[in-house]
Amino acid sequence: MCIFCKIIDGEIPSNKILEDDNFLAFHDINPAAPVHVLVIPKEHVVSFNDVSSEIMGNMSKFIQEVANKMGLNENGYRLITNIGDDGGQEVKHLHFHILGGGKLIWNHYEQNDPHKSI
Ligand code: 5GP
Ligand code: ZN
Repeated sequence: MCIFCKIIDGEIPSNKILEDDNFLAFHDINPAAPVHVLVIPKEHVVSFNDVSSEIMGNMSKFIQEVANKMGLNENGYRLITNIGDDGGQEVKHLHFHILGGGKLIWNHYEQNDPHKSI
């Protein structure tokens, strides 16, 4: 079982923010911003590339509720999902990162010239 499925089952503890029958939001163990929340579907879906439009539609609404609950609506936030190895996805269970609580830097390329990395 993957680590996020273990978090859903309660086998691994987590600091929960919001939960319903289909989704769970909890604090990232290694925060990269003042607010760093992970949102996952309870069904094991590997990545955004595999998710159905039905789950994604409901998940979008759930993410908006989490952002609202965390007080991020006024100043904004960043929503990220990493996909596969090039995307830097470490946990192979779909998750969205909600990052906020301060002005965020924008720096996604490992190498300075993205054209040379291809
Ligand atoms: P990825 O790199 O796959 O997009 O993001 C995985 C995220 O999961 C990382 O930000 C990492 O800190 C977080 N993470 C990994 N293991 C755990 C855990 O056991 N508990 C929590 N709360 N977060 C975790
Ligand atoms: Zn899983």
